[in-house]
Amino acid sequence: MADLVLKPGREKSLLRKHPWIFSGAVHHVDGNPASGETVNLLSFKGDFLAQAAYSPHSQIRARAWTFDPDESINVNFFHQRIQNAIAARRVLNVAQTSGAYRLIYAESDGLPGLIVDRYGDVLVLQSLTAGSEFWKETLADILLEETGLDTIYERSDADVRALEGLQPVVGVLRGTLPDSRITIHENGLQFNLNLESGHKTGFYLDQRRNRLCVRELAKDRDVLDCFCYTGGFTLNALAGGAKSVVAVDSSAEALSLGRENVALNGEQAESVEWCEGDVFKVLRKFRDEDRSFDMIVLDPPKFAPTAAQAKKASRGYKDINLLAFKLLRPGGILVTFSCSGGIDAALFQKIVASAALDADVDAQIVEHLSQAADHPVALNFPEGAYLKGLLCLRK
Ligand code: SAH
Repeated sequence: MADLVLKPGREKSLLRKHPWIFSGAVHHVDGNPASGETVNLLSFKGDFLAQAAYSPHSQIRARAWTFDPDESINVNFFHQRIQNAIAARRVLNVAQTSGAYRLIYAESDGLPGLIVDRYGDVLVLQSLTAGSEFWKETLADILLEETGLDTIYERSDADVRALEGLQPVVGVLRGTLPDSRITIHENGLQFNLNLESGHKTGFYLDQRRNRLCVRELAKDRDVLDCFCYTGGFTLNALAGGAKSVVAVDSSAEALSLGRENVALNGEQAESVEWCEGDVFKVLRKFRDEDRSFDMIVLDPPKFAPTAAQAKKASRGYKDINLLAFKLLRPGGILVTFSCSGGIDAALFQKIVASAALDADVDAQIVEHLSQAADHPVALNFPEGAYLKGLLCLRK
């Protein structure tokens, strides 16, 4: 096995069991490892630190599989890790209420680069790094063995693959999938989705718990669901007895699935006004028209994937939150999210607070929200926590 030797003093994060090694920390590589191959990570003095997957093209030059020198990175190793991840989901009981959930969440489950979501009887796999790509076929076989399922659909088309020097791959990896359109259930609601063209792996599974929060509080409210995608929050608001919902998204395909989902759940089509457009513009238009709501959901896409974009992203969050506070009636509820890795929870709260201040609105946070429990965060990998939400009550 090749050795990757760190510069003097650069082993600190590895000793804390953080799995990433950046290119700037690498002194030299002994040997000629292929992309994704396992290498030994050594301190400058030659002490063993970890066994890791080598990513020659990425700034993150290696990702640790294990900190144990005696563990072999082989089929048994991956069986064990996948079994552990599945066992953790069993403890969470998520399958009892939802047919779609995250089975494997990369670093958080000790499997850097590998995301696997279960949609009914279909597994959707995302391989994001050289290491997960190197082991992809083995991982696919193990996943079928451990779940007893037959079909894996691959959605390895996330932009981050380019950083690893990997091309996008989309298609059936195992079994057969006659139709990429499928129906799943979540907390008693049905959703149609498209595994081939849907965002991420098809659905925003991370918001499952927060959609229930909205359901609990929506009764008799006029709701505005911004960045509604296929209607996840909209349907939950209706299920909770909302009086009306205005649902806004820029994607016509998402809205058309949203309409289907309303019908699928036996709700009246008239209960929802679907609005195709840019939320930044629509909120301004509503402000100019003096429209107001009792509940507003803001669930935008990542404005700041990394800290480098934090400043510009902050302006975006401030803008939509300020406008939302202006459209919120007294006693109204704002449910506002950021899924930006580059904006931490404290900064997000600051942005929302300054938006309320500028809107001249008095509000209090009544709940902090985060990603659903099937998207866990390993204590040694805080980067796994990306979704921050605030449930605010306007006075
Ligand atoms: N709330 C959804 C997930 C939202 S994902 C759920 O629970 O399922 C973010 C959505 O924002 C995507 O559907 C994307 O199409 C939409 N979007 C991105 N930029 C937008 C913009 N400027 N205006 C309106 N929609 C936008």
